[in-house]
Amino acid sequence: MSNLVNLSKEELTSFLNSFDNIFCDVDGVLWPRAGSVISGIKETFSKLDNFNKKVRFVTHNNLLGRNNLHKVLNDIVPGLAIDDVITPISIIITFLRTIKFNKEIFFIGHSASKTDLFEAGFKIALSGPEHTEDSLRGVINNLRDNENIGAVVLDFDPNVNYLKLVKAINYLQREDVLFLSASTGTFATIENRIILGGVMFQQIIEDASGRSATNFGKPSDALKRYLFNKYTIDSGSRNLFVGDTLDIDIKFGKLCGFQTLLVGNFKPENANQIVPDFYINNLALLHKII
Ligand SMILES: [Mg+2]
Repeated sequence: MSNLVNLSKEELTSFLNSFDNIFCDVDGVLWPRAGSVISGIKETFSKLDNFNKKVRFVTHNNLLGRNNLHKVLNDIVPGLAIDDVITPISIIITFLRTIKFNKEIFFIGHSASKTDLFEAGFKIALSGPEHTEDSLRGVINNLRDNENIGAVVLDFDPNVNYLKLVKAINYLQREDVLFLSASTGTFATIENRIILGGVMFQQIIEDASGRSATNFGKPSDALKRYLFNKYTIDSGSRNLFVGDTLDIDIKFGKLCGFQTLLVGNFKPENANQIVPDFYINNLALLHKII
């Protein structure tokens, strides 16, 4: 693995000539988590455009909703197609359309993803009530099956609660109910505060229901299949995956057989570690050296 800023001019040219497509993560690459766009990022993507590199974003960031995220990213990469903003929810929508899904979705997630599903034409079942009588009878009374529900879809939900979890678990007792997950990450530290990711709640539902969700985020086979079908690419090295996490982004890049570029400092720690092909401390540095 090489630090891009330490490559010679010839080595950088050979790196740039080695790929056509860039699949790029968003959070931690274009901006710090919960921050604004890093100065110099726009210049980097403008330079990459000059080199005719086709950029697409593959992100777990469902929080803005796809349309809003597209607006932000289009400012960084002018002319970016909305289809080139790939989120787990957008792949779930494509999947549900492919199988002509027409039942209701029991959705545990935040409002932007709910809007994405709704605007794609899917029916969302009511997830309420938010509170129940403080007794087991109160809980049981809320767990009647709803035959119209054909899928449980999970995403990051800051308002997840006990009733939503047990309802999902009980709907999944019917084997014909699909179990799809856009949730990613167990926990993260943001501004020195620990937050729980959706995967923690997914594990609770999986344990209690005996069902396993199909995951649509990085590093899933469903996402790999989606990219390969959508963009008629192959696993050859003419593709570069860029991201800031080894176990999510670089692992996914390798699953696809792409070249990989880690954004951040890479320090080899053990023999089993995932090793990126290249790394750079900050992607905004790239425009200065190419
Ligand atoms: Mg990231």
